[in-house]
Amino acid sequence: MPAHLIGCHMPTGGGLDKAIRRAKQIGCSAVQVFTSSPQQWRAKPVDPEAAAAFRQAVEETGMSSTVSHDSYLVNLAAPSDELREKSKAALVAEIGRCSAYGIPCVVSHIGAHMGQGEDAGLQRAAEAVIEVLAESPDDVTLVAETTAGQGTVLNSRFESLAKLIDWCRGHDRLGVCLDTCHVFAAGYDVSSPGGIGRTLDEFDRVVGIERLMVIHANDSKHPLGSRKDRHEHLGQGEIGTTCFFELVHDPRTERTPIIVETPDAETEHANNVAKLWTWAHVAV
Ligand SMILES: [Zn+2]
Ligand SMILES: [Zn+2]
Repeated sequence: MPAHLIGCHMPTGGGLDKAIRRAKQIGCSAVQVFTSSPQQWRAKPVDPEAAAAFRQAVEETGMSSTVSHDSYLVNLAAPSDELREKSKAALVAEIGRCSAYGIPCVVSHIGAHMGQGEDAGLQRAAEAVIEVLAESPDDVTLVAETTAGQGTVLNSRFESLAKLIDWCRGHDRLGVCLDTCHVFAAGYDVSSPGGIGRTLDEFDRVVGIERLMVIHANDSKHPLGSRKDRHEHLGQGEIGTTCFFELVHDPRTERTPIIVETPDAETEHANNVAKLWTWAHVAV
């Protein structure tokens, strides 16, 4: 069976329930949202009416999979205790909002070591993750995203994610999100024929495929190994069509939400989601 949880990151202007309904209209069976502004620390607690409207929208549309993405400000590895504490509190609040909405996983960029060195940063992040998970509702899984490796950002290699999980003692509420643009920018060649399959093989060997909870399907404006994080429409960037075609036919992605995070959401998300469905429906 090809992948069947396909969708996009939906803008939430007008409410999270509207985002679910608009996602359904453009053919999504999976959707990612922000539960608060990703550029701000302050977030209001969830209005119970908004949570009820969201749950109703999910039920009425039959949306199979919902995912949240945390604030870009969070840095669980921050050398500054103040920033790290603020980040932990923000992530605990985010997980609380997900629990209120009934969203089972939140994707996070985890953080950057900011000069401490990779292992020191990962150690500090792991300690923070353990505390965040202990202080937050247990019906939400924290999903660490693979990164492009820009600057001192952590988790551009599968080995780093494996260490993070190991140093969180294999916590059962910790998963991984593989972003095709980010892994390509970090040097994993997903553009060649068979490349995404080999990358998933390596992911399985290093991290374990059971940790793969979310896939971000983005093409890349920049070449292999560029360590630059700029998303492009599917099939129109340096990665190209083959990767996404093979991705939706890989048996390991059959039940994994595949989320498009490409530019021009209002006008282009429908096209990118339609491309994935078209490729998924081609017999191989
Ligand atoms: Zn992503
Ligand atoms: Zn990105």
